[in-house]
Amino acid sequence: MFITGGVVSSLGKGLLAAALGALLQARGYRVRLRKFDPYLNVDPGTMSPYQHGEVYVTDDGAETDLDLGHYERFTGVPTRRSDNVTAGRIYQTIITRERRGDYLGATVQVIPHVTDAIKAFATEGTDDVDFVICEIGGTVGDIESLPFIEAVRQLRNDLGRGMSVSIHVTLVPFIAAAGELKTKPTQHSVRELASLGVQPDVLVCRCEHPLPEAERRKIALFCNVAREAVIPALDAPSIYAVPLQYHREGLDAQVIHAFGLPPGREPDLDRWIDIVDRLKHPEGTVTVGVVGKYVGLPDAYKSLNEALVHGGIANRVRVDVRWIDAEVFEGDPAEVPARLEPLHAILVPGAFGERGAEGKIAAIRFARERRVPYLGICFGMQMACVETARNLAGLPEASSTEFGPTPEPVVGLLHEWRSETGLEQRHEGGDLGGTMRLGAYRAILAPGSRAAAIYGCTEIWERHRHRYEVNLAYRSRLEAAGLVVTGMSPDGRLPEIVERPDHPWFIGVQFHPELKSRPFAPHPLFASFIEAAVRQSRLV
Ligand code: GLN
Repeated sequence: MFITGGVVSSLGKGLLAAALGALLQARGYRVRLRKFDPYLNVDPGTMSPYQHGEVYVTDDGAETDLDLGHYERFTGVPTRRSDNVTAGRIYQTIITRERRGDYLGATVQVIPHVTDAIKAFATEGTDDVDFVICEIGGTVGDIESLPFIEAVRQLRNDLGRGMSVSIHVTLVPFIAAAGELKTKPTQHSVRELASLGVQPDVLVCRCEHPLPEAERRKIALFCNVAREAVIPALDAPSIYAVPLQYHREGLDAQVIHAFGLPPGREPDLDRWIDIVDRLKHPEGTVTVGVVGKYVGLPDAYKSLNEALVHGGIANRVRVDVRWIDAEVFEGDPAEVPARLEPLHAILVPGAFGERGAEGKIAAIRFARERRVPYLGICFGMQMACVETARNLAGLPEASSTEFGPTPEPVVGLLHEWRSETGLEQRHEGGDLGGTMRLGAYRAILAPGSRAAAIYGCTEIWERHRHRYEVNLAYRSRLEAAGLVVTGMSPDGRLPEIVERPDHPWFIGVQFHPELKSRPFAPHPLFASFIEAAVRQSRLV
């Protein structure tokens, strides 16, 4: 399946792909979802969250587009490096081959070399599934996406009849002055796509008002698709209501039909019905503050936001997330109690760079002293260690070498660590792209710790994305000050979890648990953190 978008960006192609994957799974099929990004960055790892939203990290250590997070959250299928490719990576591969002389003197061109590379990426490593869903980023008509659409055209021809389906997502805007929904942008977009040799089989029409029958027929007529294959897509109350909504509109049935497959049995959607029920009928609300840096852009913390929602699903409560800019605490200390007192739990998420660090440390101190549940993720764990070092261990100059040289490097650059492929080494001043400790690593939990109780085991696999680590030389001083290391890398060299046994719920983790949380399997740390927030809400 190839999913393209037209008219405007941000129409929810990623959610459509993810929801369709979930619906096909509910019919008993195995799926793999892939994303093609037409930009020239090799991966989104070096892009600012403001440009691109969150960077989603896979088990095998790839820094990918945030849509892969949706794919995992909806299907539960772990994504891989091979599930996201950018034009930059395609060109990098081709130019490396060209320099090696692999093309034997041929002129290297967009067709066939770039399109062949795209086609290879689309189909590679998919023998174990029934369907591959490929989302093409960008909008039809962009210069950058042309080679991708051309590759889709060729691949559909190579695969043969009935072996691929083209789904095009468009917008049907409502013009208030005329009181009408307009189908013309959709017609133009389909014409543009068809002029590139790709005729859609299914049209998904995003609209803010129900699509009247006359408009539906008109779109079918002008765009050369069956009326039933024009799927209206109204805004949903929650992203987790999207699979059920698309099912009601007949999306999965139309896709199955377009492949020429028998309708089969009704999909089993109980899991989604239960999730939507829990979201619609919460038994209470908790307020969680996220003290961070990119708080102006919700997409920068996509997986984190979803994991908090999942924690709410696990506890049947609504989670009201307050996004707080850490810098507000730096200007005026009175802001700390003013903003943090109304909260039932505080979270400091992952981050890079010094800006806002002092504000985060102030928030962590508040959580520790006032006994408010605290979860520190990656940077949030590192700053929790700095906070304890400074305020309880008698090290007022404690800091991270990420911010420059410091006499008390409680957090320091990772120099070497063991990965599946051997010893990894890093040096000061190295490349920024793809040089972090990335992807899933094992950690061993201390028996009897809160972390072990939450996970219900003493061996975990979690995903990482960091360049700095808590310095073990400070372990005994941190532990004497009440902050205990309860998770370690298997070789005992990298601290993975710290916790405060003297506090109702205070945990810092070096990894990103939010990347592995799913609505139907909330991550244990988030389920427990929200449970602690519920207890806190009964106290205040
Ligand atoms: N900047 C910190 C590091 O590189 C934290 C990274 C993160 O929070 N993901 O270790």
